[in-house]
Amino acid sequence: MPPEGAGTDPGDALRAEEERLRRTLADLEAQMARLVESSRGDNADDEHDPEGQTIAFERSQLAAVTAETQERLAEVRAAVRRVVDGGYGTCEVCGRSIPDGRLEARPTATTCVEHAARR
Ligand SMILES: [Zn+2]
Repeated sequence: MPPEGAGTDPGDALRAEEERLRRTLADLEAQMARLVESSRGDNADDEHDPEGQTIAFERSQLAAVTAETQERLAEVRAAVRRVVDGGYGTCEVCGRSIPDGRLEARPTATTCVEHAARR
């Protein structure tokens, strides 16, 4: 049962985002697995194989996007935990409420604007 007066639960949006990121991550991992698979076998000699170099480039690009997505997912999960624990929307430096506008722009914010610069 939702608490009274809860119009929009920030947890809902965050959980939806978590789900979206999990799917993205699964997709990226599948792409990476395919790349690893295709770079294995006949074309072990990357240096003299232009296709092997392309694959190496794609792998590094994919690894970067994967790392970013994992980081974002960790942030969203931490935010979901704060919603559950009741600390969501409170600056972890000064303990004041984070303005709604900031939370809308950045739902995973853990500090008010004033303290964001220190991160
Ligand atoms: Zn603060």
